[in-house]
Amino acid sequence: MPNRKTVLPNARQFPRFAGIPTFCRYPRLEDVEPQNQPVDWALYGVPYDGGVTYRPGARFGPRAIRDASQYVKPHHLEHDVTITDVMSLADAGDAPTRPYSCRETQDAVCEWAEQLGEPSSTKLLAVGGDHSIALANLRATWRRRGSPDKGLALIHFDSHIDTVDEIWGETHQHGSVFRRAFDEGIVDPQRMLSIGVKGPLNRSDDLHYAIDRGVRVVTYADWEADGEARLQDYLSEIAADECYLTFDIDVVDPAFAPGTGTPSVGGFSSSGVFEALRMLAGVNLVGADVVEVLPDRDPSGITSLLASHVIFEILSLDALRRTV
Ligand code: MN
Ligand code: MN
Repeated sequence: MPNRKTVLPNARQFPRFAGIPTFCRYPRLEDVEPQNQPVDWALYGVPYDGGVTYRPGARFGPRAIRDASQYVKPHHLEHDVTITDVMSLADAGDAPTRPYSCRETQDAVCEWAEQLGEPSSTKLLAVGGDHSIALANLRATWRRRGSPDKGLALIHFDSHIDTVDEIWGETHQHGSVFRRAFDEGIVDPQRMLSIGVKGPLNRSDDLHYAIDRGVRVVTYADWEADGEARLQDYLSEIAADECYLTFDIDVVDPAFAPGTGTPSVGGFSSSGVFEALRMLAGVNLVGADVVEVLPDRDPSGITSLLASHVIFEILSLDALRRTV
């Protein structure tokens, strides 16, 4: 397939502080579709936070991240790839939500996202919103690309495992998202890797369900001990399988990412998490999300800025794969 490109506004004519802020200044999907169809990645916002168990406010994440992303440049220094030279990237706007219902939001987002671009080749990157919105993007991705007989491989960055069965009697919220994905058969727990889990937990057995289902749990302490080796083992095992990446910003120490709803102290620095993401070079990414940014708790905007660069790191992995 020939490489498609992304045309960015000329920053000498239209400075980064001017214009309507789309994700990383990528064109709007409706503006590129006629001449450059299909796009390789459609990025979209999901302004929803009705699935939270602690602080609300992530509904304002997509706007804040769009704004913070204006200074994301297209050339990745370490991977040596200019992502806009090898992929067509577009901002598809925000998905419809149902602010009073998590399930209805998940259904509405999935139905909307399923239609974006060209389902067989356009990959979806959802920007939250709380982590419950990942189920919608996973579902849409699986329906568009996954093999019906097996769930997607999943790489999960998070301080929390998000596999509890229910909270306050509700099975659809941000703490149960992967449990539901297993139930629906869209994620294969035996090909899921969770990186960065930290305590304290509610109970000693909080991680048992996931581990019993075969999820590889690399706590932050494990990561510091031998995380790279564990990651390489996992990557060689999943090889070229279709893999989804879900990134909860609370995996990063609140010293670097204070703007989040369920902060967990300690863990990755910004540069540490970039290093981890860069180790994923070669993975066959088919979809992704970046979630749990809460702008009201982010007075200097560093969490949104970090999230915008995490988006860039994720896209760069796919760009790199297209050049080798
Ligand atoms: Mn989470
Ligand atoms: Mn979390």
